[in-house]
Amino acid sequence: MREAVIDKVRAAGVVGAGGAGFPTHIKLQFDVKRVLANGAACEPLLVSDPYLMAAHTGQVLDGLATVVRCLKAEGGTVCLKSKHQGALTSLEKGVSANGYEGLLDVFELEDFYPAGDEFILVNEVLGKIVPEGGIPLNVQTVVSNIESLLNISRAMNDLPVTDRYLTVCGEVRQPMVIKVPIGTATDKVIERAGGPLISDFKVVMGGPMMGNVLATGTEPVTKTTSGIIVLPASHNVIQYKKKSLSQMRFIAKSACTQCSRCTELCPRNMIGHALEPHRIMRHLAYTPAIAGEMTTGEGAEVLEDALICSECGICEKFACPMMLSPREINAAVKKELMGKGIKREPVRETFRVSPFNKTRKVPLNRLMERLQVARYDIHPPFYEDEIPITNVTIPLQQHIGQPALAVVNTGDPVKKGDLIGEIPEGALGARVHASIDGIVTAVDDTVVIEKRQA
Ligand code: SF4
Ligand code: SF4
Repeated sequence: MREAVIDKVRAAGVVGAGGAGFPTHIKLQFDVKRVLANGAACEPLLVSDPYLMAAHTGQVLDGLATVVRCLKAEGGTVCLKSKHQGALTSLEKGVSANGYEGLLDVFELEDFYPAGDEFILVNEVLGKIVPEGGIPLNVQTVVSNIESLLNISRAMNDLPVTDRYLTVCGEVRQPMVIKVPIGTATDKVIERAGGPLISDFKVVMGGPMMGNVLATGTEPVTKTTSGIIVLPASHNVIQYKKKSLSQMRFIAKSACTQCSRCTELCPRNMIGHALEPHRIMRHLAYTPAIAGEMTTGEGAEVLEDALICSECGICEKFACPMMLSPREINAAVKKELMGKGIKREPVRETFRVSPFNKTRKVPLNRLMERLQVARYDIHPPFYEDEIPITNVTIPLQQHIGQPALAVVNTGDPVKKGDLIGEIPEGALGARVHASIDGIVTAVDDTVVIEKRQA
C-alpha cells in the first residue's frame, strides 16, 4: 500500500501547504506512531483551514486516514481550536459517519500563538518534545497541514494540485476565503476581493507574523500561499519588516535593555530548547561585524542558537517592550550560518518544558491587538467557485528541494492538471501542474499560461 500512496502523492505534486513546501511523498516513507492534522490556523486573520475542515470534512479525514495507514501509525488526530465550532462539530460527526472511530480523533487546542508550530503542537497534543534541530519524526510523529490532507485525498483519485485556498483580508472591500488557480497574480486576487480600500498600501503574503511584504504586489500565488493581507503602508506589521539588518543592530545597541522578556516568552525556550534571543541580541549589539559578517569573532558560538529559532515572531511583535527585532536578526544570522554550511550540534539531550509554559502562552486576541490587526478579524464568506483567471505564472520551485524541470515549451496547449514541471532525476522536489487551460507563452523559472479566445 505504501508504495502506491507515495506514487500517487508524488505524481500529484503535493507539498506541505502550511509552511515551506516540503514534498509530502518524502514524509510518507517512515513508520510512526501518530499523525497530527494541523488545523490550528495559527496565524492571526488566516482562516482557510477551519473553513476546509467544515466544508470538506470527508476529504480531510480520508486524507488523514490514508496517511495513518500508509505510515502504519496507531491513529491520527485532527488538531484545531475550540473556537472553530463549526469545523469541530463537522469533524466529530465526520469521524463516526465515515467509520473512522478508533483510527481518528479530534483534539481541541486553546486559542494561542503559535499553536500551529509543529513543535508546539506535538507538545500540546502528545506531551512529547521534538529535540532541538529535529523534526516530529524524531518522536515518531508526522504533522500534516489540512490542505495537504485534502490534496492527498484528491491525489488518491489522480487529481493533481492545481488550486490553493487562501484568505484575502485587511483593507479590501470584501474579505473572503477563496480558491484560486496556482500562479494567479496577487493583484488579481485582491481585485476578486473587491479591490483595495486605500491607495497607499502594501501586501503581505502569508500571515502578519511570519508572512512577507511583497515587492510588487503582483507576485503569483503558490502551493504554500495561505493568505493575502492588504495593509496601510505605514502599518506596524509592514514597518517591522522594512528595517535593514544594520539599522536593527544599531537600534539594538542603543535600546536593548537586556530585560530578557524575548527569551521568557519564546515558545521554543518554553519547551526546553536552549534558545535565548536576548543573548543573541547582546552579542550582536556589542560586537562589531567582522568583514561585514555577523557570525565570526569571539563569543560568536551563541549565534548558532539562531538555527533553532522557528521565526515565529513572538519575541519582536509581542514580547519586546522596545520594539526591537530579535526574530529578523535571527533570520539573518541563520541565513549567514546556513550559507557557510554551519550546523548546530544539540546542546541538550533531554528537554524539560518550562513550569511557566501554560501561563506565558500568548492569547491570539491579545496578539492581534498588539499587532493592530484586530479590526480585520472578521468571519469572511467562503467561495470556491472557479474564478475567471486568464493568465497564470506558475513557479517551477514552490517547494523545498530542486526546482522542477519544465516539460512544456512555448506554444504548447495545456489543460488544467497537465504536468508542466517534473522532479529532476534522483532529486528532492515536487511536480508542478497547469492550473488553467491555455497556451504556454513563456518558460524560464516559471511557466506562463494564457487563456486564448478561440
Ligand atoms: S525583549 Fe527587547 S529589550 Fe528585552 S532583551 Fe529582548 S530584545 Fe532586548
Ligand atoms: S522568533 Fe523569537 S520567539 Fe520565536 S522561536 Fe525565534 S527567538 Fe523564539
